[in-house]
Amino acid sequence: MLKVMLTHDDLRRKILRLDGRGYKAYKALRGAYAFPRFILYLDHIQGDPFAAPTAARVIIPQREAGFPVALVTHPARQVGLAHYLAERFAAAARRVSRPRGTGHSGQIRILPVGQQMLRRTALRVDADAVEARFTVGLPAAGRRILAHEAVELLLHDLPRVVAESLFYAAVDPAAAQAYAYTAEDAEALRAMLEARGWVAFLAEGSLLPRRSGVDDRPLESGVPLTAPPTLRAEVTLPHAGRIAGLIIPQGVTLIVGGGFHGKSTLLRALEYGIYNHKPGDGRERVVSHPATVKIRAEDGRYVAGVDISGFINHLPGGRPTDFFHTENASGSTSQAAAIMEALELGARVLLIDEDTAATNFMIRDRRMQALVRKDKEPITPFIDRVRELYTERGVSTVLVIGGSGDYLDVADTVIWMDEYRPRDATEEARAVAARFPTGRVREAQGPLPHPRRVPLPGSVQAAKGRKPAVVKAPSRKALQLGRHTVDLAAVTQLVEAAQVRAIGWALVYAHERYMDGRRTLAQVAAALQADLEAGGLDILARHGYPPNDLAEFRPLEWAAAFNRLRTARVARPEDATG
Ligand code: ADP
Ligand code: MG
Repeated sequence: MLKVMLTHDDLRRKILRLDGRGYKAYKALRGAYAFPRFILYLDHIQGDPFAAPTAARVIIPQREAGFPVALVTHPARQVGLAHYLAERFAAAARRVSRPRGTGHSGQIRILPVGQQMLRRTALRVDADAVEARFTVGLPAAGRRILAHEAVELLLHDLPRVVAESLFYAAVDPAAAQAYAYTAEDAEALRAMLEARGWVAFLAEGSLLPRRSGVDDRPLESGVPLTAPPTLRAEVTLPHAGRIAGLIIPQGVTLIVGGGFHGKSTLLRALEYGIYNHKPGDGRERVVSHPATVKIRAEDGRYVAGVDISGFINHLPGGRPTDFFHTENASGSTSQAAAIMEALELGARVLLIDEDTAATNFMIRDRRMQALVRKDKEPITPFIDRVRELYTERGVSTVLVIGGSGDYLDVADTVIWMDEYRPRDATEEARAVAARFPTGRVREAQGPLPHPRRVPLPGSVQAAKGRKPAVVKAPSRKALQLGRHTVDLAAVTQLVEAAQVRAIGWALVYAHERYMDGRRTLAQVAAALQADLEAGGLDILARHGYPPNDLAEFRPLEWAAAFNRLRTARVARPEDATG
């Protein structure tokens, strides 16, 4: 039987019949409606004007939307363009949204985007269509339906928002192209790193500092980045053409210099170089290896069965550290755990800033070695593992060091930040190291272990009341999973709550399908990633309609959330019975 889709006129008639009725009667609007140039889906109708607003979507076929094939057939370009359209949609929605009754009445909202161009469920562009997912607050006075206001909102204002933001003819073609090409260039640049032996590339002229700790936009008065001749390289990008920049070679790199000279700012740029930044951000051509992980001390965190024996051994009382479990880690044990967890998930570059590191984890100098003998000190400091990480594992490290000159002995490259300008201080540093031997002895015993853990069924407990799974992300710093809250404040490479929400659902998903007591955490992450690559973020949806509030994330951050989940239980692979 041929099913004829309802039209916008049918929607108008349906709404008008609801005037003055109780709010729940709005439920009858659920469905799809053909408008002249797009289809509107009302997927989930809110139960009252104060509840989470109605989930809606529009799909515009490309024959109507009209975006040039060049912008919509390449994955990175699609993501860049989608970011631009999401900004346009949000701005157009703000222009029409006004209070039209109680609660959310009259509001049209799409998930806000930041500086990073991420794959998001809220806006998607491909060769077939443009799809926007957003919410609308269906209007009411108290709990009585305001039908005329609803008609105005859905049949007049919403089509205006769509017309102003999702059609090629309505947007700025130069801007649309800039977003698409900027994303593609960054992607291409990142793909060059490995073969050239670099862990990062930062184009000359980039603007690294941000306006403030809570404002991620560029500090426009900042000093643009320059590259010293010995750490300068040129590359050719698909759109920007030939560009020059500062390279960070593989190996052990120190960023040194006086306080307030821009060391942490440079490291932070590497931290976020895993993402593609929007045009005008200042970091459009600042990229780092995709498996770059920021490591920091995080006392008080939970640790589930991590082998930290390569860094910490012989705890008082003979407590074992090859399967280290704690509800309340110290600065040094948390930092050791973070490194082993990152290696477990395939990290290739570690970033450490002494500002946020545990001093006793980083260094034990000659004098302390003499005073407190090795058999009384459980910690093998990072300085004694950092070279091995590179030579034996191929894992590079970039460290901000202002205080501990002992690190000059283990560095391949030393970058001196001098009034925000990088200088190559490698030779000077070698000379200083030769002139002032530290006299310390290397303390590492045996090789660093290969971390492998098997997450056990029951590790992810997301049920709450009668709901089988509740996932919420009040901010990018916290994940609520059922009755449990996971503190993600120290997982700084997460930039949006939408990523945290997706990670929460992905934990539920992976727990159900893959945490069988046999697969290792890395294997579970790989299986999850394969599913996400095949089916997109929509596979995580649990509400029976397409999700509008998820953004892409790395397996590394997914695992970071698992690792901080206080219900997580793991076994060693050899002990796992399945
Ligand atoms: P350090 O880690 O060396 O102490 P920071 O990176 O924290 O220094 O930078 C100190 C201050 O200088 C911060 O407020 C930062 O925003 C600012 N800053 C960093 N880089 C630049 C730059 N290129 N131009 C202008 N200001 C900068
Ligand atoms: Mg600093």
